[in-house]
Amino acid sequence: MSAQIRGYTNPASTKPGVPIRVGVLGFGGLGQAAARILIPKSEMLWVAAADLKGYAYASEGLNLDTCLAAYQSQGSVGYLEPSGTLTSRSIQDLVEQATVDGYFLALPNLPNTFIASVAQMFIDLGWRGVLVDAIKRTSAVEQLLELKEKLAAGGITYLTGCGATPGLLTAAAVLAAQSYAEIHSVQITFGVGIANWEAYRATIREDIAHIPGYSVSSALCMTDTEVEALLNQTNGVLKLENMEHADDVMLELAGLCSRDRVTVGGVVDTRNPKKPLSTNVQVTGRTFEGKISTHTFTLGDETSMAANVCGPAFGYLKAGVTLQRRGVYGLFTAAEIMPQFVK
Ligand code: NAD
Repeated sequence: MSAQIRGYTNPASTKPGVPIRVGVLGFGGLGQAAARILIPKSEMLWVAAADLKGYAYASEGLNLDTCLAAYQSQGSVGYLEPSGTLTSRSIQDLVEQATVDGYFLALPNLPNTFIASVAQMFIDLGWRGVLVDAIKRTSAVEQLLELKEKLAAGGITYLTGCGATPGLLTAAAVLAAQSYAEIHSVQITFGVGIANWEAYRATIREDIAHIPGYSVSSALCMTDTEVEALLNQTNGVLKLENMEHADDVMLELAGLCSRDRVTVGGVVDTRNPKKPLSTNVQVTGRTFEGKISTHTFTLGDETSMAANVCGPAFGYLKAGVTLQRRGVYGLFTAAEIMPQFVK
């Protein structure tokens, strides 16, 4: 049976009441947190995971503990018995073999074209379903925008920028904007605290790429020792300003304001799980009466990066499934669709 037919001939879980079968691509910091979030859900069933060296698939649902054990002790979920497969083409082989309604792409976007190339691979395979990413850079979302027509023609409902920023905070900005007749600025400031950088290597490398003097390609080429040396110089803290973040293009497309009115920056502490500052978005605008005001939406300090990225990603995946059921395909951003709460 081809992957193309599979998406159509077995649409059981796209019926209300039957859990949505979910795959997680990438099993690092965010991928593992994503699986942990899925386990207690009744509306979603975690059936697939892929990492660089292999994949695991079980139509009745994967076991988190055994997947974690295989990944942590042997370096890949592909070692899992009997559900694992070791392969250097893990995403492609998984997609061809598994019956999955929606995938969360918890993959590094290194190089900056990687996620778009994965989207293209899904199109080329003739796969139909829902894809969600937590991509961060403006230029990365722009690459996906170029695939819009092909995704629509292929029957894929793709939701991009569905993490925290872009994602939760971008969507909050859209809500906040409703009080205003004109938006003057959207300012996103994030605080991230993690106990050690190795738990989120791609996230930290991608953050380093925003520091003056670094680029995506130079951050990609850094060895772990070089990353550690850089973090030693800053006591583990990265301060990021005027980042190239896709919140800008997403809010521009959503009609709020031009992208130059959107700014994103933050502080990441890689040696302390406590947030160095409270993550927030401030939306300043003018009301129809001519008053200038600012709405501020602040995330609770106890919420982790993983909670604020993976929670929204699945909220958007559920919304994507609703769109699929209605025959709505193509590319959507977190700023134009309301996420749905997953029970
Ligand atoms: P990580 O480095 O901890 O893990 C990456 C995982 O991807 C690993 O399991 C690795 O084996 C797997 N992988 C790498 N290349 C692969 C390939 N070709 N095929 C299959 N699997 C592959 O990554 P992380 O820190 O969890 O970050 C994941 C992504 O989430 C990053 O792109 C990061 O920028 C993004 N992120 C987004 C937000 C947001 O708010 N939008 C916040 C944090 C992180």
